[in-house]
Amino acid sequence: MKDQPYLDTSPKVSDEIRKTTCYMCACRCGINVHMKEGKVAYIEGNRDHPVNKGVLCAKGSASIMQVNAPSRLNAPLKRFGASGSGQFEEISWDEARDMAAGWLKPIRDKNPEKLAFFTGRDQSQSFTSFWAQNFGTLNYAAHGGFCSVNMAAAGIYTVGGFGSLVNQIGTISNYLCSLVWLKIMTAIQLKWALAS
Ligand code: SF4
Repeated sequence: MKDQPYLDTSPKVSDEIRKTTCYMCACRCGINVHMKEGKVAYIEGNRDHPVNKGVLCAKGSASIMQVNAPSRLNAPLKRFGASGSGQFEEISWDEARDMAAGWLKPIRDKNPEKLAFFTGRDQSQSFTSFWAQNFGTLNYAAHGGFCSVNMAAAGIYTVGGFGSLVNQIGTISNYLCSLVWLKIMTAIQLKWALAS
């Protein structure tokens, strides 16, 4: 045993820890983000957070790739090859904005309500409605209306709130009730979306 090499089983993973909230789903678990040399090195659940009490799901752990993935887009891309050829070049934000304005201006001038505007889950859903209404269309929606907003509404109307999925596994009866609400509300939203 004396000649065995020393093995550090618990190496230091970071030089700074920032406490924040996971945004990979609507549960908003507390997380400790470990920074090493100014970069995100590791993410763990925050044991002192009331929502998840230290638990972190696989999606939360994988959120490190939102920052570090080599495939992450850092600038607008413009296709220059045939559709499907995968040939893109980076362009400036000014050029991208001018292109989009060129496509949208004729619609806004003539029939702005012809534009159906849908945004992803980017926490800027109030800007979605602000932008769409100023453009002149009421045909807009965002990710939340088809996903977490239903879950939040179902939670509020049934159990008075909602927290981490991983934290509420024990309250199965509440979830069964929430799931029914979720299905009803999603159906209503879909019906609304198809009718508009
Ligand atoms: S349940 Fe997972 S993805 Fe959702 S906030 Fe918590 S850690 Fe993030």
